[in-house]
Amino acid sequence: MGQFISSTPKEDNDMAYSVDKFFKTFKMESKIIPEDTIILIQSYLEKGDVQRTVSIINEALRDIESAPLNIAVTGETGSGKSSFINALRGIGHEEEGAARIGVTETTMRRTPYTHPKLPAVTIWDLPGLGSTNFPPQKYLEAMKFGEYDFFIIINSTRFKETDAHLAKVIRKMNKNFYFVRTRVDSDVDSLRRGTPSTFNRGRVLGDIQKDCLTQLRHAGVVDAQVFLVSNLDASDYDFPALETTLLRELPAHKRHVFIQCLPNITEAAIDRKRDSLKQKVWLEALKGGVLATIPFVGVVCDSDVEKLQETLTLYRSYFGLDDSSLEKMAKDLHVSVAQLKENLKSPRLLLVEKDESLGEKLLRYVEIFCSVNGGLLATGLYFRKIFYLQSYFLDTVVSDAKFLLRKKEVLKGTMGSGKA
Ligand code: GDP
Ligand code: MG
Repeated sequence: MGQFISSTPKEDNDMAYSVDKFFKTFKMESKIIPEDTIILIQSYLEKGDVQRTVSIINEALRDIESAPLNIAVTGETGSGKSSFINALRGIGHEEEGAARIGVTETTMRRTPYTHPKLPAVTIWDLPGLGSTNFPPQKYLEAMKFGEYDFFIIINSTRFKETDAHLAKVIRKMNKNFYFVRTRVDSDVDSLRRGTPSTFNRGRVLGDIQKDCLTQLRHAGVVDAQVFLVSNLDASDYDFPALETTLLRELPAHKRHVFIQCLPNITEAAIDRKRDSLKQKVWLEALKGGVLATIPFVGVVCDSDVEKLQETLTLYRSYFGLDDSSLEKMAKDLHVSVAQLKENLKSPRLLLVEKDESLGEKLLRYVEIFCSVNGGLLATGLYFRKIFYLQSYFLDTVVSDAKFLLRKKEVLKGTMGSGKA
């Protein structure tokens, strides 16, 4: 295959340099390609080894799409496990596939919950250690502890010593755990009402945090990571910080699916999704670029249009801009779908209007994208048009998602349920 290389040694080096530069721009928690994979891609590019470059990119793409992620959520019944599992997947408590809230546990078995759009991610609802009457070690064996990437231990208002013992044993088994204290919204609200003159939100939260750490230390667990959350509002308290920490501590190739699974309720979450998809699109383009003998010519062909349609549908669904998500959001906010869609560009990206054919429209997008991101063309990477189009679609969907997030905040504020 090597004889089909169209690039010169200088171009190969430019490409290797661009790979390095590109991946360096992302935050740790959004990097989806392992460092050693990037180094390998670079070294194959430098050697002009097309076959190996392509095969390592293929492997990386396969890994990030299909690497399974298994999360164990444990805690006593009533602590907020089911609510947490729904919040983490961004699924309303009454939606299809939601974990049922407020029901007493009767099963001694673990229950798997997947994300409707991302089958690689499974969140396991484990029965509380206390309700099984097992000692921690036995409990972990029965729950197949080896299968999880990490544990989330959920505690509510009353600290459960059994959970601290469990934490100790999880650590002994060389597994990671994160300690999550739910219902901090209730603590904050009741103290605000009870002692309005001395109330200080930061201090209330600081005290809860300290108390959890002290109790964990008493049980022999030092340096635990404690997060104070409200399952009723995953954009507040430590929920966003928990997401960032989980992502940072995961191996890079497992981040992509988890990032796509997390709900679009903060700008940071939307940016992470964009960055993760950007790396994926870029790798696909690099592969195409390495293989292409005549890059960047001609019009957009039919199979490209089909692929673009698929990509757009996928992006809209990842960012909550698909028709059914928009309908649901419109209902929640008591506005019409048309009102929500006003100012959104993504639903109209591939619509053919009277005065312009789809082909012309697509070429215009390429021009817009390249005029804004001209730098890319100067890096020695000559990608195909479809890359520019996919990138343009991604940027458009992201800007729509952010617009909707702000609109939602404004509408919620006017409905009188604004955050304190
Ligand atoms: P599980 O038994 O551990 O699965 O707990 P659930 O998720 O079923 O929650 C038990 C109850 O606590 C339900 O009434 C939830 O609405 C409530 N709950 C759970 N998490 C929170 C939270 O963060 N804040 C508040 N205010 N209520 C919560
Ligand atoms: Mg439950």
